[in-house]
Amino acid sequence: MKGSPMAFDVDLFVIGAGSGGVRAARVAAGHGAKVAVAEEFRFGGTCVIRGCVPKKLLVYASRFADDFADAEGFGWSVAGARFDWPTLVAAKEREVSRLSAAYRAGLAGAGVELIEQRAELIDAHRVRLAGGRTTSARHILIATGARPAPPSSIAGLEHAISSNEVFDLAAFPRRLLVVGGGYIAVEFASLFARLGAEVVEVMRAGNVLRGFDEDMREGLRDELTRAGVELRFGCLPTAIEKRGASLLVALSDGERIEADQVLAATGRKPNTTGLGLETAGVALDAAGAVVVDRHSTSNVPSIHAVGDVTNRVNLTPVAIRDGHALADRLFGGAEGAVDHDLVAHAVFATPEIGSVGLTEAEAAGRFEVVDVYKTNFRPMKATLSGSVERSLMKLVVDAATDRVVGAHILGAAASETIQTLAVAIKMGAKKADLDATMAVHPTAAEELVTMRARAARIERGARRTE
Ligand SMILES: Cc1cc2nc3c(=O)[nH]c(=O)nc-3n(C[C@H](O)[C@H](O)[C@H](O)COP(=O)(O)OP(=O)(O)OC[C@H]3O[C@@H](n4cnc5c(N)ncnc54)[C@H](O)[C@@H]3O)c2cc1C
Repeated sequence: MKGSPMAFDVDLFVIGAGSGGVRAARVAAGHGAKVAVAEEFRFGGTCVIRGCVPKKLLVYASRFADDFADAEGFGWSVAGARFDWPTLVAAKEREVSRLSAAYRAGLAGAGVELIEQRAELIDAHRVRLAGGRTTSARHILIATGARPAPPSSIAGLEHAISSNEVFDLAAFPRRLLVVGGGYIAVEFASLFARLGAEVVEVMRAGNVLRGFDEDMREGLRDELTRAGVELRFGCLPTAIEKRGASLLVALSDGERIEADQVLAATGRKPNTTGLGLETAGVALDAAGAVVVDRHSTSNVPSIHAVGDVTNRVNLTPVAIRDGHALADRLFGGAEGAVDHDLVAHAVFATPEIGSVGLTEAEAAGRFEVVDVYKTNFRPMKATLSGSVERSLMKLVVDAATDRVVGAHILGAAASETIQTLAVAIKMGAKKADLDATMAVHPTAAEELVTMRARAARIERGARRTE
């Protein structure tokens, strides 16, 4: 590590101990830097405390409903199964607390100073803590994440909850209105329906999951409906009124719905308000995100940002990778930037979606000729369980090079399958490579290497041929 000509209290001050901040702090300390990290809520950040981790635990809980329903077809009787929400919330909290403690211990063990306070910038090298203390740093990392952004047009919005509160509700919401059609909204709609809630999901768009491949959107819409979620498109709540223990929600299509809880999951906004970024001269974009270069450095050379606060690819592994790379560059002599292309991602509804690369529509806009391969089948387990669930798999191929430029799966374990397939696609796999790969039988994933017949060819400027 190079010495600093100026004397600073620390080499790196990290604001926010979430996915990106924790990784950057720990790696920087490992390179010998003097590091402090400030956290205003709980160590671990959104993913660990009120995001990916507790969400997946609730998803696991919800899937027992499908298992119990399927069991009979295989000869089991599971009569009398019942679900207790407070037991699940308490178990979830134990795991989240264990993880949060592990993050703290990891940082402390690496020699990082832990500051449990809000921090704000004073200028390019100074930070003020909520307690009044001021600290100077050679480098400052903004890793403050994002927060729920509910639609401000709803009268009585204070009666709604966000994903921040949903994990710790004291009582199970028997009637839940979910507002939004993005991945967080559909995940909660899917899991609460399975836990026994009556779920209505309303969204401005004409279908769920804007930005995802159309076949996946349609497939998941059908599966949500099958699970009992009432989907209402093209409308949003206009007002929420408290009526005793219930909420009366007026929708823009004129309907009124009674619910126990309204979960607003309409998107997230970078956490940059009141951070002192403007005073320090840091440029923000129109969405309020910190503008950074490919090395995660802002227009002020000593101020850097990673994770959701930069609104690039808002996923935990990306925040972690960017935090790691930044620490390696600032204190470990590394040069490379993180590649944000071909980031695989999942939607943990039931069934799940796993996706990597381009949708069919995106590929059609980028390549001269695109070949589409797809399959739609009843999973083997459904033959005895009697479930009408379908699985979808789709490969999007650039015809000129035969490269697979997108893969999309809707079905059980899609998140696990896409992780493995993403390696091949990142390495530049061609459709012929998948064809040359021997199938594992009997699996659902074998379909990925046995799709021989093209479902469609799309030529730029010409009609799609099926
Ligand atoms: C419900 C939900 C489900 C999700 N599911 C997934 C998933 O399945 N997979 C996935 O990859 N991603 C998922 N995400 C996204 C993922 O959680 C984020 O991409 C990730 O947490 C971003 O990490 P980060 O370091 O940028 O910020 P965060 O993890 O949000 O951490 C930021 C931290 O900064 C703190 N902070 C903010 N301002 C200050 C301040 N001024 N001073 C001190 N501390 C401050 C906050 O309290 C927070 O702890 C989910 C998110 C949500 C909300």
